[in-house]
Amino acid sequence: MRLLIFALGFITFSLVQYIAPFKRKTFNKKRLGLNLSLGLSGALVTKVLTPIGLAALAASDQKDGLLNLIELPDSLLLIITILILDLGVFIQHIIFHKVSFLWNIHAIHHSDTHLDVSSALRFHPLEIGLSVGIKAALILIFGLSAVGVIIFEVLLNLSAMFNHSNFQLKGKVEKYLRLIIVTPDFHRVHHHPDKGNTNSNYGFFLSLWDRIFMTKNNDIVNSSDFGLDHFPKESLGNYWKLLAYPFSRQRKP
Ligand SMILES: [Zn+2]
Repeated sequence: MRLLIFALGFITFSLVQYIAPFKRKTFNKKRLGLNLSLGLSGALVTKVLTPIGLAALAASDQKDGLLNLIELPDSLLLIITILILDLGVFIQHIIFHKVSFLWNIHAIHHSDTHLDVSSALRFHPLEIGLSVGIKAALILIFGLSAVGVIIFEVLLNLSAMFNHSNFQLKGKVEKYLRLIIVTPDFHRVHHHPDKGNTNSNYGFFLSLWDRIFMTKNNDIVNSSDFGLDHFPKESLGNYWKLLAYPFSRQRKP
């Protein structure tokens, strides 16, 4: 079911960005293949680590987590689950920008020289693995709702594909939607090579956290200038070199 929703999202956003692209670009088969390969590697890592996630869910069902200290209606627990996981992903994202070794892992995602729906798949498998571990820890600590966790995973996937897409929403839609969720214009700023821009707009789903933590940047990036200035060109188009990158370079975030 999750795979079907993912595939539908991927096809829909691909079509929209094909019909009305924000920036025209020539199709690059090699880049697409690389992003899809990284996405597939991440999916395999998630599959391997699924028992950890399921064990966390089963344990949280024993009602041992912090949220079970108070009596909460299921619907409220579901909403709190989504909020806690999204905040967790947001804080994880900031930490990946601030700690050198983690930044070198996350740099694979930022090295993409173009932004489109496939960029949402371009993550180092280690980042995906660490993310599974962090989410499992949050599920255990707070005793999150199993249904909420599954809904959040679907929302996060769809949101990442949406906000990396190469299209621009019309003025008012963009203006109001970004009050709630991360839009493509909102997230494009985060992929601009300028450090001030890269280190802002960390949200993946709700834009609320950037507002609360004052990391929101309202600039609109109109150039198609994406990627990292320092990233070695020879690693950009090579799957194995990208995987090895965090172990071969130590760059400050
Ligand atoms: Zn980032």
